[in-house]
Amino acid sequence: MSRKEDVVIIGAGIGGLTLALSLHQAGIACRIYEAVPELKALGVGINILPHAARELSELGLLPELDKVAVRTRESIFFTEHGQFVFREPAGLDAGFDWPQYSIHRGDLQTVLLDAVKQRLGADAVVCGARCTGVSQDDDSITAHFVSPEGEKLPSVQAALVIGCDGVHSALRKQLYPDEGAPRYSGVNMWRGTTVWKPFLSEASMVRAGWLDVGKMVIYPIRNNVDGKGNQLINWVAEITDPNPAIRDWSRPGRLEDFLPTFENWHFDWLDVPALIRASDAILEYPMVDQDPLPTWTQGRLTLLGDAAHPMVPRGSNGAGQAIIDARFLAGQLKEKGLVPEALQVYDKVRVAATTQVVLTNRANPPDTILREVYERTGGKPFERLEDFVSQEELQAISDNYKKIAGYSPAALKARPSFL
Ligand SMILES: Cc1cc2nc3c(=O)[nH]c(=O)nc-3n(C[C@H](O)[C@H](O)[C@H](O)COP(=O)(O)OP(=O)(O)OC[C@H]3O[C@@H](n4cnc5c(N)ncnc54)[C@H](O)[C@@H]3O)c2cc1C
Repeated sequence: MSRKEDVVIIGAGIGGLTLALSLHQAGIACRIYEAVPELKALGVGINILPHAARELSELGLLPELDKVAVRTRESIFFTEHGQFVFREPAGLDAGFDWPQYSIHRGDLQTVLLDAVKQRLGADAVVCGARCTGVSQDDDSITAHFVSPEGEKLPSVQAALVIGCDGVHSALRKQLYPDEGAPRYSGVNMWRGTTVWKPFLSEASMVRAGWLDVGKMVIYPIRNNVDGKGNQLINWVAEITDPNPAIRDWSRPGRLEDFLPTFENWHFDWLDVPALIRASDAILEYPMVDQDPLPTWTQGRLTLLGDAAHPMVPRGSNGAGQAIIDARFLAGQLKEKGLVPEALQVYDKVRVAATTQVVLTNRANPPDTILREVYERTGGKPFERLEDFVSQEELQAISDNYKKIAGYSPAALKARPSFL
């Protein structure tokens, strides 16, 4: 027998949970259907830039985020020899009205999930329901589900279905059954977290090296985890590799596959190989994305977040763009009602915006700063960086990315709220 909902959200990840909270704020009823039997705090670190932090602040979530996350104060770049390249302030320190957060993905999901349960009720998220597809006519749409054991579950009828089902989206597959495999960027990533003493500003997001010779991204994601002032440090090692790893967020990685590349990275502010060796667990993931789609919408179905626009994680925008999708969509549904026309406006605006981000993450993300320095110095230590590249040129790379991803301070301040 089928149950009737207003809006059915498929997937209780970052995008699906933000959408549920935003719809609730807009006075629209919804329910989330999630494939896994139980939501566990999985993943490692992610960043919430000011444009997404603004949305979470409009949901009243900053006090909860402040309890579990680190407010990032600066973004800082070094060569693989540990030489300083570029620094710029981040979040409030950069003049934004909203902070930048570095946070464990599981902590972010937990903050969102707790708020959903508190505001929408404990039964707002139905776990153990994997969506296998939808069928629709002019008046309604029906989502079909199976249990974790593969048994058919009751279908659910709704006015709209929003596919927030991540990089392996079943609903994207239904819309585009012949889409090719993900596009491998030629880089594999190993990720982990380590309890370690604070370094640099104690809230610095470090990018160092370059992909051809090994690149690291390192930043703290939890403060004082042990009562002794140590932080939980997130690190990502990125190396050019012709063979992509398997696209599974929980796949364990092996130290011997990447540690030798970073064995000599003993900087005065951080001993990188020691940090990696002390890690709790190591995960491996390929740097992949998918070509932007012309549309995510068919009638009463649309996609959101990674299901709609998987991107390589080189601009700290994966979670942020999912959050912005959710807020923009909720605003449209509030304004126009639960009608396909609202999905069309969402589609037009967000496909265009996120296509730019996906393509810029491929070609000119903020870490292009490191590529420029690597190529111009031939990867050798330098006496004076300004003999090779000016700080103004490096600043322009960073500013261009902010403009495209929609988070320059002035533009963000001027933009009206979505809801
Ligand atoms: C387990 C896990 C770990 C991750 N770890 C990291 C990380 O360490 N660093 C990082 O940058 N990003 C990570 N991500 C991705 C990151 O969360 C997203 O890039 C970003 O936040 C966008 O969120 P999203 O809601 O679109 O997708 P996700 O956060 O991936 O959420 C998708 C949700 O949909 C559910 N789902 C999938 N298929 C179905 C289906 N057919 N029916 C019902 N539900 C379904 C999934 O179980 C998941 O809960 C991880 C994602 C997952 C699922």
